[in-house]
Formats: sequence, C-alpha cells, structure tokens
Amino acid sequence: MSLRAALAEGTEQLAAAGIETARLDARVLMGAVLGRPPASVPALSCALSEPQQAQFDDLIRRRTKREPVAYILGHKEFWSLEFAVGPGVLVPRPDSETLIEAARASFADQDGPRTIADLGCGSGCLIIAALHLWPRAHGTAFDISAAALDYTRKNAERLGVAGRLDLVLCDFRQAEGAFDLVLCNPPYLREEELAQAAPELSFEPAQALSAGADGLSAYRSLGPVFGRIVHPEGLAVVELGAGQEAPVCREFSRAGLDVTGVRTDLSGIPRALLARPARKKVVGIRGPRG
Ligand code: GLN
Repeated sequence: MSLRAALAEGTEQLAAAGIETARLDARVLMGAVLGRPPASVPALSCALSEPQQAQFDDLIRRRTKREPVAYILGHKEFWSLEFAVGPGVLVPRPDSETLIEAARASFADQDGPRTIADLGCGSGCLIIAALHLWPRAHGTAFDISAAALDYTRKNAERLGVAGRLDLVLCDFRQAEGAFDLVLCNPPYLREEELAQAAPELSFEPAQALSAGADGLSAYRSLGPVFGRIVHPEGLAVVELGAGQEAPVCREFSRAGLDVTGVRTDLSGIPRALLARPARKKVVGIRGPRG
C-alpha cells in the first residue's frame, strides 16, 4: 500500500475510535515506523514494505484501544530531553515543566541548589531535568514503585546524570534528608475526576494520579514531609491540579510552611506552588520593668 493510503486509513481508524488528534497521532506513528520526524511524513510519497505496513497497522491498533502515544513509542520529550516511558510510569506532561521554570527562576541569583530531591519521581523527568540545569547539584529520587525507579535509573544513564543521582525505594512520607530544592508532582485527581478522565489515563499507574475523594490526600501528607526535609533556606516546588491553589495553601500553612509563590502553566492555570519552612518567629525577651 502507498504511504499516503496507509496514513489516510490509519487516521480514519483513529478518528473512528474517538481520538481527536487522529491525524497527528497517525503521522507520529508513521514517523516511528519509518524512522523519520513526524513533520516530514505528509511530504513523503513512497510505498510501504510489508513489514512496515504490518508494524504501522499494529501501532494504529494499539492506539485505537487508547494506549497513550508515549507508551506506544516508548519515549516522551520533557524539558527538551528524551525520556524512556512505559507502563508503570506517568507520561511526562508539558505542564510539569512549569515546576522546572519556577525552580530556575527562584535560584536565578544564586549558584543553584546543591541538593535536590524528587518525591515520587516516576520516569525521573523532574529530577533529571533539574540535574541537567544545575550540573553541580546532587539528586535523590524517591518512589514507592520499583518499576518507576528502574525508569529513572535508565533515563539518568541515558541522559548522563546517573553519577549524581541516588535512588531510594520508599513511600514519599518516609523520605529523609535535608535538601535545597524538593520537587514533587503528586497524585492530585479526585476519584470522580479519574473515573471520567480520558481513557488513556487508565493505562497509567493509578497511584501516580489518584488522590482520594477530594484530590488532596497527597498534599496533606506532603506538608509535614516538606517541613522535615526542606533545608531552612531551601524551597519546595510542587505541582497543583486545576483549582487546587487555595486548598493546598491551607494544608501547607497548617503544616507550618510559608507559601512563597505560584507559577501558572502555559494555559494560565496555577500549576507550581512554591513553599518553604516557616521562619521561626523571634520572641522578644521582655526586660525588667522601669
Ligand atoms: N496532570 C495529570 C492529568 O491531569 C495528572 C497528574 C497528577 O495527578 N500528578 O492528566
């Protein structure tokens, strides 16, 4: 079959499966089959070999079942770096780059953080992007999932920062240390939201997405953890779900943190919350009267 006919057929199948980005996805998958950039695909006019046709059909079939494109390709770009991803880790979202931007701006007039932690590192996109940004920093990545830590390790090796990264298999509530910068993209979807979410989300690990009836369960635990592991002069940068700024600020104040800023993502949604341990109030000592 000609590439054009295969592309048209694939696009039609994806559209019939309810995929709004059918044309783009078909191009991306065809690009993967041909080893060419997706943008170059529409201009190509050639015939597909039988193995190419079979591979393209297989990728289209997977996508019609709503498997995320990033899982099908096995990689996803984040902060201009390519991360290996697959079942067991959340696909990096462009929104999460807001956390890296916020951290960069916060440390702009300093040397940068020396010690960085990532709570629930998943693919490793946040901590590895941060280690790229600050070549003298050392990272510690925490995750409760061994599969996630395997991805983080693999990505750190691919991207040349493995020598500066420790991996710790534990619940983020058990994280220990004292860090200049703590990054975290916690689960924050309400159960109801997750049930109504795009079918693609059902392929991703629920523990990276789901945060109880009100979507705040992870933030409730995170407040005290930040209070314990963020250095007194350090900073926590945590991702927010849409509309969560006010309730998360309340949770963090309750845990004794000062919220020092919020940064919006490209859609204008408050996405990164900056917090640090509250400074201890200096209690004035009253001298003797008179
Ligand atoms: N931003 C993701 C989504 O809405 C959720 C990620 C998360 O819960 N941390 O698909």
